[in-house]
Amino acid sequence: MTPGDTVMAEAPTQAASIRDRIEDWPAEYAEKYRELGLWEGKTFSARLDEWAEAYGSSTAVVDGDLRLSYADLARRATELAAGLRSIGIVAGDAVLLQLPNSADFVVGWFALQRLGAIPVHTQPGHRHAEVGYLATATGARAYVTTDVFNRFDHRELAAHVADVAPALESVIIAGDLGDHAGDERFHQLSSLYVPGAEVADPGISPSDISMLLLSGGTTGMPKLIGRTHDDYAYNSRVAGERSRLDSDSVYLAVLPIAFNYTWNCPGILATLRVGGKVVLAPSQDPAICFELIEQEGVTMTAINPQLVPMWLDEREFAEADLSSLKIIEIGSARLSDYEARRIIDEFDATLQQILGMSEGLFCATHLDDDPELLATTQGVPVSPYDEIRVVDPDGNEVPDGEVGELTVRGPYTLRGYFDGEEQNKRAFTADGFYCTGDLVRRLSSGHLIVSGRIKDQINRGGEKIAATEVEGALLTHPDIRAVALLGEPDSVLGERSVAFVVPETTAQQPPTRDDLLTFVESTAGLAAYKAPDVVRVIDEMPLTPLGKMDKNALRQLLGDA
Ligand code: AMP
Repeated sequence: MTPGDTVMAEAPTQAASIRDRIEDWPAEYAEKYRELGLWEGKTFSARLDEWAEAYGSSTAVVDGDLRLSYADLARRATELAAGLRSIGIVAGDAVLLQLPNSADFVVGWFALQRLGAIPVHTQPGHRHAEVGYLATATGARAYVTTDVFNRFDHRELAAHVADVAPALESVIIAGDLGDHAGDERFHQLSSLYVPGAEVADPGISPSDISMLLLSGGTTGMPKLIGRTHDDYAYNSRVAGERSRLDSDSVYLAVLPIAFNYTWNCPGILATLRVGGKVVLAPSQDPAICFELIEQEGVTMTAINPQLVPMWLDEREFAEADLSSLKIIEIGSARLSDYEARRIIDEFDATLQQILGMSEGLFCATHLDDDPELLATTQGVPVSPYDEIRVVDPDGNEVPDGEVGELTVRGPYTLRGYFDGEEQNKRAFTADGFYCTGDLVRRLSSGHLIVSGRIKDQINRGGEKIAATEVEGALLTHPDIRAVALLGEPDSVLGERSVAFVVPETTAQQPPTRDDLLTFVESTAGLAAYKAPDVVRVIDEMPLTPLGKMDKNALRQLLGDA
């Protein structure tokens, strides 16, 4: 490739294949959302060009010393797209994107949009079981990752995944190739930029899938959620409006940017949409974040309840000037009313509680809600077209004020998971409502209060753990005969995971927490946060009359520790 080359796009044959494996909105809904102007009919690549045109030299992204203007971002995305195209990535290809919070993630994401390729938002903590699964399930052509992050060598992981995933032709490392320099599958991200190159329009439709997000799930591996250009941009727009983002907004990205919460709720994309500035925090350490707030004039940030005690502590002692900060958004797990009140009292910024999900629905408090609503509720859906039903176990709507399962249908909530024929039968009603598994109460004002969950999932400081996935992995441990994973309250994490373990009779001694941490990460190849926080050894597994593990009986044991 030489500067100025135009890379020809290929027919988007694969776009059809991922698109075809995800249930679309019924035609009458799609038409309605278009007619109402909710779906604006633009791809993210076209949007990036519009933003570059409108906000050109304004700063779009700050990553340490690197500052990219909107024009830089658009140009770099094109130059990287040209290099990605030259190694065979075309419209419709899935590409795993596993990078820490960095400009590389943002540019890489838009470079893939330039080609009509589909980034798969892989979490930095994911290990060979998860990444191998994602690569195989999506037929990913490439895997973009880093060299070493949090003392973990991602190149080794990538080499392993490339060995087992037949379609994975290229590994792209943002950093040093190390021992893999001679491996022809490996490329250095920085070497793929083609200065001055152009890429041809891949000719994809705004109703094509623009990315695959991961669901915390309740069974097996994470479920994949396809979000279209149109639906995700609408999500951006309404989330940004709820937080009143504008070109003066400066958003500090603290949590991993691959999370839907940080990426689009309102997060990075909604800030870019209106010409604001995105600042990428290199760490979640509140001291570092506070310094960045002062240096960059941050107006909004988003954290989870796990970080709240640290932010409150730092607030007490730090000298950083936080006067620019207008909004502290908190969600991903339930914030206690007590801590919410402390945030309201101890920061000058407005607390904005949210309830969101990668599947779509996003709720947030209004900035001018009275302090009681800000402290005790998780907000109101951001779109008037979000159809909410709070239902009893028979699917009948319960009156306002009563607890029921939150179900939703709307212009940016999925109609089915990727390859989800079986899962969709359980997760959706016949008329297309997504059953969230979250228990809520709705107030007459429309505000929702999360009161629990019926899905078999543990929310460990915002990281979702599917109990059955971890149980399945632990059952392969030679010293474990039976195991059940449950969540119990934890003052730091909100919830911690407890494994009730029945040891094998042959075990010399029951496995400890440390044994299981090593086993989960190294042998089972799962993210470390999925390892049980506590191990409780029991003689036998309590069973229901139907012979299933009786988690209610175990739940009663939780309090007895
Ligand atoms: P994810 O798709 O990983 O963002 O997870 C979405 C799930 O996180 C929701 O279905 C809820 O179970 C949980 N969640 C998100 N925000 C809150 C919140 N404010 N309070 C309680 N649970 C929450």
